[in-house]
Amino acid sequence: MTFDYDLFVIGGGSGGVRAARVAAGEAGAKVALAEMDRYGGTCVIRGCVPKKLMVFASEYSAIAEEASSYGWSVGEMSFDWDTFKTRLNKELDRLEGVYRKLLAGSGVTTFDARAKVKDAHTVVLSTGEEITAKHILVATGGRPVRPEIPNAELGMVSDDVFHMDALPKSILIVGGGYIASEFAGIFNGLGVEVTQFYRGAQILRGFDDEARGLIAEEMQMNGIDLSLGTNIEMMEPVEGGILVKATTGEEKVFEKVLFATGRDPNTWDMGLEEAGVTLGRRGEIVVDAYSQTTVPSIYAIGDVTDRVNLTPVAIREGMAFVETVFKGNPVSPDHDLIPTAVFTQPEFGTVGLSEEAARDLEPIEVYTTSFRPMQTSFADRPNRVLMKLIVSQASRKVLGCHIVAPAAGEMIQLAGIAVKMGATKEDFDRTVAVHPTMSEEIVTMRNPTRKS
Ligand code: NDP
Repeated sequence: MTFDYDLFVIGGGSGGVRAARVAAGEAGAKVALAEMDRYGGTCVIRGCVPKKLMVFASEYSAIAEEASSYGWSVGEMSFDWDTFKTRLNKELDRLEGVYRKLLAGSGVTTFDARAKVKDAHTVVLSTGEEITAKHILVATGGRPVRPEIPNAELGMVSDDVFHMDALPKSILIVGGGYIASEFAGIFNGLGVEVTQFYRGAQILRGFDDEARGLIAEEMQMNGIDLSLGTNIEMMEPVEGGILVKATTGEEKVFEKVLFATGRDPNTWDMGLEEAGVTLGRRGEIVVDAYSQTTVPSIYAIGDVTDRVNLTPVAIREGMAFVETVFKGNPVSPDHDLIPTAVFTQPEFGTVGLSEEAARDLEPIEVYTTSFRPMQTSFADRPNRVLMKLIVSQASRKVLGCHIVAPAAGEMIQLAGIAVKMGATKEDFDRTVAVHPTMSEEIVTMRNPTRKS
């Protein structure tokens, strides 16, 4: 049987674009890709990239405040959302152009259309066109979801933040995950009055408890009104915003409400189940270790599979798919010891096991230090940083490294190499400190804080 293409990719986000480019450019496959929105997907258009640019924008207020302690006279500062948004949109247009160019340059045929799976080897475009392919790769990502409460549509989701006409005076952010906690810091830094509701006992569930505690404490110290064990009970439109009644009984009007209450895989109305692809409980595509679905010619990568929902992981999964299917070299993407950063303020970099997860597995030593770094201490600011290592008592390997500090994301990328290589505590110890830095503490912690 002959097909129109060797590979048809559905979704032009980080994972889909990388897989398409590498399959066409390096493996010489005939590849097509369909994208119904903008090229670059969640990460580039409505996620990591615009979010990080907003983090940068929001940090200048604190930097300016600190500058006066160093002798600078800083005049009246104000933030102009329109100026920022115009530049942001220009940058996103540029990046989308780069993605389109990369695809074209690799010889990938692109369709600006929605694609659905018709059967194991056929996709149907929203234009009505039917295309056949030997392999189909689904890389459609995920989308933010609102909780099922009356009037939930009054609240924004993360996609909407970048399109706001103006910055609100006040915002309620619901959720305690990456997105909620990052936006709380962003809006706070931009001068918006921020309240955050999280239904659980502490934000950033699943991460190291000590790190979560410090981040929450610092966020509150920076001015965020964080209410734990709290959710929205009721919301309704009123003059000047949205009246919110909390589960604690409190009532308050917020100009905006932002739901950061999780994301669902984009598998709705895709024809997947009809074609024989098994979906999981949350609608995610079920795949094996090689990203193959229950239909052998259909593969899936990235957030739509709900494995580890991070851009660099989707990219890895895409490359492993190409190795496996087009280069005759079966590669299973490695989901172990993935370093990651949460761009809260303070920033959080983490790799490996939390103290809680590690001590459930084996006897450990915990090395931890928390201190006021030189730069902020000089400015008489109370903010602290945290450096923490979790070490196996048996193998001496560093099982986890957790850093809460400015630029922790940059630090954890490098510490992640050592942890991935299986470095022991003694390997860290024999590495000479870089002085004076914050990160030198990671190699100078001599005695365990506790053993368990
Ligand atoms: P998460 O799943 O991380 O967090 C969702 C939050 O919403 C949780 O705190 C959850 O509470 C809460 N929640 C869920 N349902 C409800 C509800 N009905 N009412 C109230 N609260 C609710 O999702 P995010 O949207 O924050 O992020 C999605 C994913 O995107 C992340 O897991 C991450 O993989 C990725 N991401 C990565 C970033 C990075 O690398 N820096 C940045 C942003 C996103 P509970 O804990 O109780 O379940």
